[in-house]
Amino acid sequence: MSDDSYEISLGNFDTETRGRSNLDQVLFWDEQAKKLSWFKQWTKTLEWNSPFAKWFIGGEINASYNTLDVHQNNIAKKPAILWEGEDGTRRTITYADLYTDVCKFANALKSLGVRKGDRVTIYLPMVPELPITMLACARIGAIHTVVFSGFSAASLRDRIDDSKSKVIVTADVGYRRGSSMDLKGIIDESISGLNFVEHVVVLKRAEGNLQLGPKDSLWHELMKGSSDKCEPEHLESNHPLFILYTSGTTGKPKGVLHGTGGYLTHLNSTFQWAFDIKDSDIFFCTADIGWVTGHSYVVYGPLLHGATEIMYEGVPDYPDTSRIWDIIDRYGVTIFYTTPTALRMFMKFGDAIPNSFKLSSLRLLGTVGEPINPEVWIWYFKTIGKSKCPIVDTWWQTETGGMMLSPLPGLETIPLKPGSATRSIPGVDIAVVDEEGNEVGSNIKGYLVIRKPWPGMLLTLWGDDEKYKNVYWSKFQDNYYPGDYAIKDSDGYFWLLGRADDILKVAGHRIGTAELENSLVSHGDVVEAAVCGIPDEIKGEVIVAFVILKQDAKNDTDSLRTELIETVRNGIGPIATPQQIYFVTKLPKTRSGKIMRRVLKAIASNEKIGDVSTLEDGTAVKDVQDAFTELQSAVRKNKS
Ligand code: ATP
Ligand code: MG
Repeated sequence: MSDDSYEISLGNFDTETRGRSNLDQVLFWDEQAKKLSWFKQWTKTLEWNSPFAKWFIGGEINASYNTLDVHQNNIAKKPAILWEGEDGTRRTITYADLYTDVCKFANALKSLGVRKGDRVTIYLPMVPELPITMLACARIGAIHTVVFSGFSAASLRDRIDDSKSKVIVTADVGYRRGSSMDLKGIIDESISGLNFVEHVVVLKRAEGNLQLGPKDSLWHELMKGSSDKCEPEHLESNHPLFILYTSGTTGKPKGVLHGTGGYLTHLNSTFQWAFDIKDSDIFFCTADIGWVTGHSYVVYGPLLHGATEIMYEGVPDYPDTSRIWDIIDRYGVTIFYTTPTALRMFMKFGDAIPNSFKLSSLRLLGTVGEPINPEVWIWYFKTIGKSKCPIVDTWWQTETGGMMLSPLPGLETIPLKPGSATRSIPGVDIAVVDEEGNEVGSNIKGYLVIRKPWPGMLLTLWGDDEKYKNVYWSKFQDNYYPGDYAIKDSDGYFWLLGRADDILKVAGHRIGTAELENSLVSHGDVVEAAVCGIPDEIKGEVIVAFVILKQDAKNDTDSLRTELIETVRNGIGPIATPQQIYFVTKLPKTRSGKIMRRVLKAIASNEKIGDVSTLEDGTAVKDVQDAFTELQSAVRKNKS
C-alpha cells in the first residue's frame, strides 16, 4: 500500500444491499426490520404524515427482548460487558447475568409503581447498572431519560421537570479523575419541590452509611426481593423508548424522543455495516451513555448483535493518557470508536505514549461527534491503526438515532479520504442544497438535508411538536434540516464543514469553520483550533482563531502567529486571513467533547455567553477570556 492510499478491504463485497436500497427505500427498510424479533408483524411499513414519520405500524416489539432474550439459548455465557472502573476494579457481565438483572430490576420498577409510558430519569455514572436500568425500563415500556452524571443540580432539575419523571435512579457517588462526586446530594437538591417524583433508587457504591429520605430505596435491597422472571411488554413499534437531550453545542439542549421498532432497525443495520461485527470481536466505544453515541453504540447496537464490549467508567486521561491504549492491549480490543476531541488530546502528548503499546489487536477504527481534521485522521490511521485499519468517520445526530453518513467496511470497500464521512448509508437520501433548497453541484458548499424519512428518525421533541416543526422542518419544505454545512465532492463523498450557524461570511464568501480549522491544524505545531466570526465596523465580519499548540511546539508565539497566517493564506486564500490568533490551553467544550464556538464568539465580541449548562470545564472560559484580554491590552499598548 502506498503512503497515501487509504483503501482497506475487510473482504465484504455485498453490492446487493446498496442496490436494493436504491430501488425502493421503504421496502428496503422493511427487509432490514425483519432481521429483528417481533411479537407481531406490522401492517404498514411507513406512515409519513409530514413531518411526522411512523415506522412498522402495528408491529409489536421489545428492545430488551431483542438485546437479551434472543441470546439466552446460544450465547448466555458470553460476556456482554467487560467493565473497568476508574480505580481498576473489573466486572464481567455475561448475557445471562444481564438478562437476570434486567428482569429483576424491571420487577423492582413495577413494585415502585412504574407503568408503561411513565418516565424514569437515570442519573448514573458509567456502571453496568446504567444499561441494566435502561433495559429494565424498555422491558416494561417505561421511557428512560438518561442525564449525564456530571451535570449540576440545576441542569438536572430542568430535565427531570421537562420529562416529569416519576422515578429517579442514581448512585450515592460517582468517580471521576480520582475524586468522588456526591450524586445523591445533587439529586436531592434537584428534586426538592418536584412533587411528581415519587421514588429515588440509590445504587450504593461507597463505604459507610447513607442517610435515606422517605422517597429513597436502595438498589440492592430492591433487587434482593425481586423475581428474575419478567415477561417483556409487547409494544407497538412507535412506542417511545427514550427521551435524550442533545449536547447543547449550539444552544439550549432539545429533548429528542425516539421510538422503538424504527430505532432498533436502524441500529441493527448500521452497527453491522459500519463495524463489520463478528462473534470474536471486542468492541470499545468510549462515549458516555449520557450521550446518544452511548445509547446507540454502547447499549442498543452491540447488545442487539450479542457482541462483547468494554465499558470504562473513567475519563480517557486518568491517571494518564496511556489509559485507553492500555485497555486496548489488555482486553485485545478489535474495534475502537471514539471522538476527534479525544484523538486531538492524545495527539497533543506525542507518539511515544501510544508507540509504547502494541495495539495489534485493532482491526477497525471509528470516530464521531465533530468533523475530524485530516491531520488527525492520518495520525489515527498510522499511529493507532498502524496503517491496517479502516476508519469509519460516522456523521449523525441525537435526532437521527444512528449513523447516516459513514464508510461501511462490513458491507463494501471504498477508498477512504481523510476528513470525509464518505457516503450515505443505504436507504437514506441525503443532499447538499442552497438557501432555496435546490441541490447544488459537486464541490459547491451548502446545507446538508435529509430528503426522506429514515427509521432511526426522532418521533418529535418531547412535549413540543411545534418546536420540532420549527427547528427541523421550517427552513426547507419537506426536507429535514440537521443544521450542518457541507459539500459533496465529484466522487459523491460528503465533507462536513461545521455548523450552519457558525459559517463565516467574509467579503461575500462563505467559509465553514472546519475549513479554516483544518488549515490551522495542518501546521505541525498546532493540535486543535477553533474559529469564529466577530462583527467588524468596516468588513462586516472578521475571523478570529483560538489555537492549542502541541506540547513540544516552539514557544516564539509571534513567529508562530505569522506562520499560521501564512498557512491559512496559502491553504484557503487571503480572504480567510484571521485578524487575530489567540493561543490557549483549553477550549470551551460540551460534556460530549464538542467545541462551543458560540462561547468563543461571545467572548471575542464582548457579548453575553448564553446557556452553558452543558459546558465541560468552566476554567476553559476563563482561559480564553485571559488570552483575549491579554492580547487586547498588548495591542492597545502597541498602538499608544
Ligand atoms: P445541539 O443540537 O443542542 O446544539 P449537538 O448538535 O452538539 O447539540 P449532538 O446530537 O450530540 O448534539 O451532535 C450532533 C452534531 O455533531 C451534528 O449535527 C454535527 O454537527 C456533529 N457531528 C457528529 N458527527 C460528526 C462527524 N462525523 N463529522 C462532522 N460532524 C459531526
Ligand atoms: Mg444538534
